[in-house]
Amino acid sequence: MSFLKVEGLTKRFGGLVAVNGVSFDVNQGEILSVIGPNGAGKSTLFKLIGSFMTPSAGRVLLDGAVISGLSPHKVARTGVVRTFQETTVFKEMTALQNVVVAHQLGHSAGPLGAFFASPAARADDRRSQENAEEILGYLGLGHVRDELARNLPHGYLRTLGIAIAMAASPRILLLDEPFAGMNPEETNRAVDMVEGIRRRGITVLLVEHDMRAVMRISDRIVVISFGSKIAEGTPAEIRDNPTVIEAYLGQ
Ligand code: ADP
Ligand code: MG
Repeated sequence: MSFLKVEGLTKRFGGLVAVNGVSFDVNQGEILSVIGPNGAGKSTLFKLIGSFMTPSAGRVLLDGAVISGLSPHKVARTGVVRTFQETTVFKEMTALQNVVVAHQLGHSAGPLGAFFASPAARADDRRSQENAEEILGYLGLGHVRDELARNLPHGYLRTLGIAIAMAASPRILLLDEPFAGMNPEETNRAVDMVEGIRRRGITVLLVEHDMRAVMRISDRIVVISFGSKIAEGTPAEIRDNPTVIEAYLGQ
């Protein structure tokens, strides 16, 4: 049985078919990248997988159980977690506080748990604090943990978004263009970071424009163009695939 199975996913916006019958499997523990020209349907595909949108047709299965149609919250509880946009980072909190809150929201009985000073809540707080420190450490944010989020440079802020997602203890992490707007040095650091996430046994599904980073980091690549899957394979297979080259040249 495959870990995550995408089966015939389709999304129509009026007359536009943004995602057109896309199927692929994701193996546990791999880094799988989805690439394709601008407007190919990559972000829509991710929203369908994370259940932030309802598919027009098709379904998504995790460990053989259908997860499409569940609320985004429920899907996150199954372990499929999408990175948060910078706007969901609390700018007036420190990096550490952001990750602590994310952990509390993801693991306590409810968000209000954090406000009740019961022994159990205090133990939860301690666990959230330790968990957040560990995440910031391995994502290379340990030295800025007490900085207010609003003072962090762009690359760090994006990494903080990933740290917040990691606080939900994902089994599979969906990253939509995590390296966008990063300089080469930040990109290198972020590539190491994604590999570090995978080393922790977390499956990574990546949409990314930076082809050099994609080729370096991916175990397998799925290529979509005009909503349809046009190729799937290892980085070496994709690099030499004439259909893929044509799709990019035609853009
Ligand atoms: P990519 O991420 O590959 O650049 P998107 O998934 O964002 O592509 O978009 C695919 C196509 O679907 C584009 O033509 C885009 O304009 C369209 N699209 C995306 N979201 C919506 C929406 N909410 N309503 C209508 N059209 C949309
Ligand atoms: Mg996109």
